[in-house]
Amino acid sequence: MDIVCLDLEGVLVPEIWIAFSEASGIPELKRTTRDEPDYNKLMNWRLSILKEHGLGLKEIQETIARIDPLPGAKEFLDELRSITQVIVISDTFTQFAKPLMKKLGWPTLFCNSLEVAPDGEITGFKMRIENSKLSTVKALQSVGFETIAAGDSYNDLDMIRAGKAGFLFRSTEQIKKDNPDLPAFEEFDEFLSAIKQVLG
Ligand SMILES: [Mg+2]
Repeated sequence: MDIVCLDLEGVLVPEIWIAFSEASGIPELKRTTRDEPDYNKLMNWRLSILKEHGLGLKEIQETIARIDPLPGAKEFLDELRSITQVIVISDTFTQFAKPLMKKLGWPTLFCNSLEVAPDGEITGFKMRIENSKLSTVKALQSVGFETIAAGDSYNDLDMIRAGKAGFLFRSTEQIKKDNPDLPAFEEFDEFLSAIKQVLG
């Protein structure tokens, strides 16, 4: 039995922190793991910026609700979910992704969670597991699934390579160049056709 595992940011929705930085008018939040490779440090810094701006979960979700999925993503996902099982696997947080999941028709999302105080202040975060994308794909395989995975970034490569088939979608020139054996797509229709071909 097949299951498709998709990355979220860059594939179905824009990079959430970059879009959020623009929607909220807080340019500091554009800082990513490219600028601060220590993810815990980066997240704690982001949470302190949110606190400084008086942004609790409610305000953040209202801002994220102004961000839209990438054009064509919802239609792609609807059709894919009508023919096979799909899980979106992301390093983001359920509460941040929620407004975008609503716009995508509530697909299954495996990601991380924020710790939120009763007054809405975000006090911390909890990562679900190490190497969440590869760990999840391996766990699915251990219960009888064959995985087909796709993503745009370095942290997707392990899950892409671990399964029966894997694709790059809207990746960078460098990643495509470094992984010439991985089929790479830019448009949802050709991406969907490739997945359908693997599904048979
Ligand atoms: Mg991505």
